[in-house]
Amino acid sequence: KRNYLIGGNWKCNLTLDGVTALVKSLNSAGPIPDNVDVVVGVPMPYLSLVRSTLRSDIEVAAQDSCVKTFGANTGETAATMLTEVGCTWVILGHSERRAGFNGHAQELRKGESNETVATKTKLAVDAGLKVMVCVGEHKQERQDGVTMKIVGEQLAAVKSALSTADWANVSIAYEPCWAIGTGLAATPEMAQETHSEIRAWVAKNVSADVAAKVRIQYGGSMKAANAKALLSQPDIDGGLIGGASLKPEFFDCVNGVP
Ligand code: 13P
Repeated sequence: KRNYLIGGNWKCNLTLDGVTALVKSLNSAGPIPDNVDVVVGVPMPYLSLVRSTLRSDIEVAAQDSCVKTFGANTGETAATMLTEVGCTWVILGHSERRAGFNGHAQELRKGESNETVATKTKLAVDAGLKVMVCVGEHKQERQDGVTMKIVGEQLAAVKSALSTADWANVSIAYEPCWAIGTGLAATPEMAQETHSEIRAWVAKNVSADVAAKVRIQYGGSMKAANAKALLSQPDIDGGLIGGASLKPEFFDCVNGVP
């Protein structure tokens, strides 16, 4: 059975005082079940501090890395730099990054393309990082019945960039955009249906072995109240938790695994 992977995504939240308080609370939150890997996605300026003060059984992720390596890429962070400060994971292709930060409406895909996310994933894996690569459809796309067309295209780009062996360092985070930050999580049945379709996609397009081993996390309004039901589904191998990862209830999710 795959180990569960519970990720917290702090996004662009927290002052230094807030980070210090959250680390303190995580450090005293009790033991982590043997069948769970826990990782927190930390804003870039706090990565070193969090790695040096956080309990060692929680791994640290960045929330993005550059589509290129070292060089004249102002404002960017090369994947290798992240490994230098003790990051072992990076979250890539989050829907907020795919939407873009140029003043465009968040529902438009004006940010990172599928190909950009795929290139970043390859560079990060090559640098020695594990990657939570985010995929997911918009509300209208679900209503139109094209969820797996959209997610399949996102996965196909990643597949093209990776070798089969690279998938050992990749987790797929299925985050339906309509569930993110809305309080409206997918029902466990709805999430399970898409997770099983994603696993079938991987079996068909990558390999049966990778499909059996790859973890598929659910993200979108996961919290203490719904974590247990979601994590009990056969193809839901963890979570990627935004808002609730800033609160003590993050550990209720960690302890919600079957
Ligand atoms: P929320 O848990 O706040 O809905 O955010 C989910 C998410 O985007 C995690 O990456």
